[in-house]
Amino acid sequence: MEIQKFSADEVKKAANEIKKGGLVAFPTETVYGLGANALNPQAVKQVYQVKGRPSDNPLIVHVTGFEQVKAFIAKSHPLAESLVHHFWPGPLTLILPIKPDAFDAVVTGGLNTVAFRMPNQPLTLELIAEAGVPLVGPSANLSGRPSPTTADHVIHDFQTTIAGVLDGGPTQIGVESTVLDLSDETKPPMILRPGAITKDMLEQVCQSTILIDQHLVSEEEAPKAPGMKYKHYAPTIPVQMVSEHQWEEVATFLATHPLRAGILAGPTASGKVRGEAAAVYMYANDSIEAATRGLFSGLRALDESQGGLDILYVASYPEEGLGVAYMNRLKKAANHMYFTNNKSENS
Ligand code: AMP
Ligand code: MG
Repeated sequence: MEIQKFSADEVKKAANEIKKGGLVAFPTETVYGLGANALNPQAVKQVYQVKGRPSDNPLIVHVTGFEQVKAFIAKSHPLAESLVHHFWPGPLTLILPIKPDAFDAVVTGGLNTVAFRMPNQPLTLELIAEAGVPLVGPSANLSGRPSPTTADHVIHDFQTTIAGVLDGGPTQIGVESTVLDLSDETKPPMILRPGAITKDMLEQVCQSTILIDQHLVSEEEAPKAPGMKYKHYAPTIPVQMVSEHQWEEVATFLATHPLRAGILAGPTASGKVRGEAAAVYMYANDSIEAATRGLFSGLRALDESQGGLDILYVASYPEEGLGVAYMNRLKKAANHMYFTNNKSENS
């Protein structure tokens, strides 16, 4: 069956598909999620199947507010309500201990915790309310591919395998939510995945230290979040990161090497190299916000470039503020490779 595109006035139709146990992708402020009734294990199993997602990678449960969360959790956390007050609806996911059997193991990956989030997207809040149940919502992409930031990205990946997608236009932020572990109240909260809600923003509200999972900083550490060991966000073409001062060097390199290169960068950086590139996808401006909004979309577009490309050069940004989340995704896409004009590496 062909996927249906639901418009803003068809939320009820979309909710009916969810009620029947079907899968409907929904817009959020971060990326599109692949929605299914979180209380229907068969439907949730389908989510893993169509994505090709490893079954030990737990899902985020999307809710209409903290009231809905309370029915499922064993224990709150002293900081939970104030974080919810400040950041919900918004790109902050909170991991809390749940009551035994509140969710099937297919949702939790066998853990006694669940990740909850209230997305800042009126259409999707309406969808959850209309469905009357919380929705699981991993990013609505085939596992390992860049996350979707438009309804068309979702359609590209799930043409015939899901019931529909609720179209809310392009997403605002462009990378997935910050995941914060609040499962153990005797320990400081820990960021398991960086997003638009930064460590500084969290510390300001909590008035206490927020830890960052070490594997986000050093590559050797085993990840705490089960899914984080998996390859993510990767286009099929090799990606290299390029820092601000390296673009002239990239241009010189391309002038003397017969490579079909794709460029993903802001206007200033693109301007230095576009004459030598086979394809350019330009961020709307040079800011980290525009880069974050355009990253996945750009990776997808260049991946499908007419005639094919040999390599993608993507702008790196300083790892501060939103740059932490942007670089976390880009490093995975690039397999941590930076551009280097070193004969032994590039020949
Ligand atoms: P995605 O569904 O692709 O947006 O990814 C959700 C992320 O949240 C994954 O990296 C999961 O590993 C992480 N996550 C979800 N639930 C939990 C949990 N209960 N404990 C730790 N990490 C979780
Ligand atoms: Mg994902």
